[in-house]
Amino acid sequence: MEKKVTVIGAGLAGCEAAYALAKRGVKVTLIEQKPVKKSAAHKSDNFCELVCSNSLKAFRLNSAAGLLKTEMEFLGSLTVPIAKQTAVPAGGALAVDREKFETAVTKAIKENKNITVLQKEQKDILSLVHNNGCNNNNGNSSTGGNSSNIVIIATGPLTDGSFAESLKKLTGGMEMFSFYDAAAPIVNIDTVDMEHAFWASRYKDDQKDYLNCPLTKEEYLRFYNELINAERAVLHDMDKIYEGCVPIEVLAHKGVDTMRFGPLKAVGLQDPKTQKRPYANLQLRKETVNGNMYNLVGFQTNLKFGEQKRVFSFIPALKNAEYERYGVMHRNSFLNSPMLLNETLNLKSHNNIFIAGQLSGVEGYMESAASGIMCGINAFRMLNNKEMLVLPDITMMGGLFKYITTPQKHFQPMGAAFGLLPALDVRIKDKLERYMALAERSVEYFKNNSF
Ligand SMILES: Cc1cc2nc3c(=O)[nH]c(=O)nc-3n(C[C@H](O)[C@H](O)[C@H](O)COP(=O)(O)OP(=O)(O)OC[C@H]3O[C@@H](n4cnc5c(N)ncnc54)[C@H](O)[C@@H]3O)c2cc1C
Repeated sequence: MEKKVTVIGAGLAGCEAAYALAKRGVKVTLIEQKPVKKSAAHKSDNFCELVCSNSLKAFRLNSAAGLLKTEMEFLGSLTVPIAKQTAVPAGGALAVDREKFETAVTKAIKENKNITVLQKEQKDILSLVHNNGCNNNNGNSSTGGNSSNIVIIATGPLTDGSFAESLKKLTGGMEMFSFYDAAAPIVNIDTVDMEHAFWASRYKDDQKDYLNCPLTKEEYLRFYNELINAERAVLHDMDKIYEGCVPIEVLAHKGVDTMRFGPLKAVGLQDPKTQKRPYANLQLRKETVNGNMYNLVGFQTNLKFGEQKRVFSFIPALKNAEYERYGVMHRNSFLNSPMLLNETLNLKSHNNIFIAGQLSGVEGYMESAASGIMCGINAFRMLNNKEMLVLPDITMMGGLFKYITTPQKHFQPMGAAFGLLPALDVRIKDKLERYMALAERSVEYFKNNSF
């Protein structure tokens, strides 16, 4: 029987997935709804459309985004080499001439003999599932069951309509599917000023679950004033966000003390320095098991990224903090991947279905593309009854896929960040040197393994 795979969506993830399979000799059907139907953000008829910025972020190896792209090249990426060929000057970033970039990717896909493109809206996932001999074992299979016809879903953050309904049904309903991002920023713990912070849980100061950042009355009022005057990003489709998840700047606008009765409440806490309850207190909660990254609890925000760094630096412990992820609020469909996905990026309940791109809970153009490569490689391995690939967490891709598939409360999408990687055996104080050492550790892995 001829082996074939269906990929739904020809965005960054879908194109990489189709290409990874095609170059391994697998026949792929790639279904793309454009130009028949376009989301509000998609404008061009090309595949792999960059819906907003033309920047694919930093390119130097000692940056998280740079390491990610290097790893993608080791795995035979389609988009990274084309991005390099169509680059425009952008300092240390890899930015592209979007028209040239998208045209070149579209051409590479359409001219590939192993890829058949169907330009139509896929309305339903269940019919594909039933054709696939789905494996409803809820187990963590590394090779898969009936794998003659595999589906990779890569319909992106704006997945909607009957296809979204169908996916929701397949994955277990509303609580398994989010339609927007309302994420609080995440800081690198090494950059928090411990002189102005203390470990304690409310009422239990012997416990180290939370790192507390106390503020005096003067510090609180200065922070409040900066916050209510800070510049916000443009909001799209915000009605849903406001129902359950109010941004910190919106809360501040309700009154000068509102934050002190919400995310900045200090009840149950005593600052060991003053032996008193702080006037206000921000809690940081561990985001990763390795303890590198901490979430600003209750600080969902829509401030511009630069403003987040500036305004939050008025909290003394965060004066020089560096952010692994800034807070975001935008329309974004993604699955509850920690519950639903194996680390090999296929559904636990339907091993033959892989989830690629932003829908899997990664955040960013290149992260989406990288997950597409991984789905393509693992779909190929499944077809050939080979053990599927799980990259170690010393790699940026491995760390990222581990993060999105590790059980956690309040899962929000994640992009490349050094905080996802386990610490080095030796302590390197200089940040860029440390990042370079982390990157080189990953590169070493890719040099010593073939895929
Ligand atoms: C408004 C917006 C702006 C963003 N800006 C940035 C940014 O500047 N930088 C950044 O790094 N990330 C950005 N992101 C996040 C993310 O990186 C991008 O959305 C990225 O394009 C995701 O890649 P993807 O392959 O998962 O989805 P997409 O690139 O959106 O690709 C999905 C494809 O599937 C197709 N499709 C959808 N449904 C169906 C269906 N039922 N049948 C057939 N085809 C279908 C779509 O037409 C599309 O071509 C942004 C996201 C949004 C929503």
